Formats: sequence, C-alpha cells, structure tokens
Amino acid sequence: MKYFELGNTGITVSRICFGSLTIGPLQRNLSLEEGCHVLNRAMDLGVNFIDTADLYQTYPYIRQALKRKPDLVVSSKSYAYDNKTAQETLERALKGIGRDYIDLFLLHEQEGSLTLKGHEEALQFFIRQKEKGVIRAVGISTHFVAAVQAAAKRADIDVIHPILNFRGTGIVDGSRKEMEQAVAQAWHANKGIYIMKALGGGHLLKNYEQAMNYILGFPYAHSVAIGMQRVEEVDANVEYITSGSISQKLSSQLKGYKRELIIEFYCKGCGSCVKRCGQGALFLKDGRAQVDSEKCVLCGYCGTQCRELAIKVI
Ligand code: SF4
Ligand code: SF4
Repeated sequence: MKYFELGNTGITVSRICFGSLTIGPLQRNLSLEEGCHVLNRAMDLGVNFIDTADLYQTYPYIRQALKRKPDLVVSSKSYAYDNKTAQETLERALKGIGRDYIDLFLLHEQEGSLTLKGHEEALQFFIRQKEKGVIRAVGISTHFVAAVQAAAKRADIDVIHPILNFRGTGIVDGSRKEMEQAVAQAWHANKGIYIMKALGGGHLLKNYEQAMNYILGFPYAHSVAIGMQRVEEVDANVEYITSGSISQKLSSQLKGYKRELIIEFYCKGCGSCVKRCGQGALFLKDGRAQVDSEKCVLCGYCGTQCRELAIKVI
C-alpha cells in the first residue's frame, strides 16, 4: 500500500480510502459482523483511511474497526449550516465512532461559493474545533466544479473530496476536463484531495481496469475513496493499486457484481426522492418515481427521503 500526506494537514492516508456508504443501511445493509469483516480485510491489507457521513449511519462499523486499529484516519461529513447543527453532527460523529477527536470533518454536498456562504457559521464552528484539537482538518465534499474552485481559494479549507471518474459521471455543473482543472488548481493550493465515485458508485465496475487506470493516473489526488461491499472487492482494489493489475478471476467476479437503484411497486409517487436527488436522476411518471440510470451515481441519498421505504440501492 502507498501512503501520502493529505495536503498540508499532516495526516498520512493510504492511496485507497474505504468508502463505508456501501456497507451501511443506505446500500447493502450488512450486519455489524459482516460489515466489519469487509472493513477488517481492508485494514489488514494496509488501508488506514475510512470515509463516512452523518447521513450514512455507518459509525457502528467504524467504532468496531477503531477497537482493532485506534489510529485509523476517519472522515465524516455534515449538512450543518449553523452552530447548533454543527455541534450536533460533530457530537454524533464522536459518540458514534467512540473517540474524542475525528480526523476530517467536511461540509457535505457543497455546490459553490453561495452554498459555502450559507454554511459559513457551521464551517467556522468546525474551524474552532480544529483549533481545540477535536477535528484535525476541515473541508468539503462536492459534485460541483464551482465548489472545488471556491474551496481552493480559501486558506481555511484543508481538504476537498470531489467526484471524478473517466466518464465524468455525476459532475453536475461541468465536464470531466473542467473538474480535472479545478482539482489541479486545488492541489496546487496545497489542499488535501481524496476523490469519490472513481467507479461511478458501481456503474463503472464493467469498465474496472479503464476506471482504475484513469483515476490512478490522475496526478492531483492523494487518495481515492472506493465503496466496497465484499472482501473480493477489497482484494481487487488493493491488488490493482499495488501491482497495476488483477487476476482474471477477480476481474470476472467484479464485472459480475451489479449495483442498481430499485423503486418498489408500492411507491406512492409523492416526489420527495425526486427533490432530494442532486443529480436530477429521478422523475415521476405514471404515478411512480422512475430513475434515469445514466444520471444516477447510486449514492442512495434519495432512499433517506422515502417514508414508504420504496427506494434503495442494492
Ligand atoms: S419518496 Fe418513495 S414513495 Fe415518494 S416518490 Fe420516491 S420512492 Fe415513491
Ligand atoms: S437517484 Fe438516488 S441514488 Fe441515484 S443519484 Fe439520485 S439520490 Fe443518488
């Protein structure tokens, strides 16, 4: 495993970050034991970096992992916009992982300078917690080129977690080229960069080698967060990163895994999920939600809005 210092943060992270969304209730919903089995495999192969969010409900898995490896680097995200919501989400994270500090705390799903302005009070709260040593670095996660550009210009933002993959899938306001340029600009401003959705949330598993070659060849990232649900996926990703290839058997296994968004027949057509999807991938037709799978990045966020539990990523 290769390790890099995440920008100017003084935090050393593995080239692969374990994206924990995929093991939790919004996606595969593995039991604590099953989820920890996958997570432990990654830790045993040298992965020291875990990504989560207030939304993902994966703190219990991480808490268990920290019992084995207390110095794992943990990154979480929050939709906080003021002091109160910032404090609540940070406390939930610390309590959830069972530690009195967290390595990275990010503002979730930022869109540009205007959304940053709207979350300024929360950001300043997190910066004060950084000064107290409760948070080691602050940052943003985003699907927007404009947010990467805005964060790159700010001296008080340490880390950016942008979407990038060889197809440009999921970039809301620009092309792959524009996102590459924005991330390069942030890199040169000494921001820590860890990429999300290199495999398009699972859509690009069929093009695994192409997707991995692209993201590993992209020179402006310290780490790449990959959502994993199975030990075989962990093995494949670590093998690819360390040797540049994987066995035919692992390659076939990966290409056989399918991730998709399911909308159950009992959808009531209320439209809440449509409003929640930042990718514009959902729409209503014939009284039910429908998905445009070309636009969907399989994040599962829409599922949190459905009172009928009719929508999920499997
Ligand atoms: S939130 Fe649930 S019930 Fe409402 S449209 Fe979406 S899937 Fe259907
Ligand atoms: S449809 Fe749901 S899973 Fe797909 S991008 Fe939108 S919020 Fe994410």
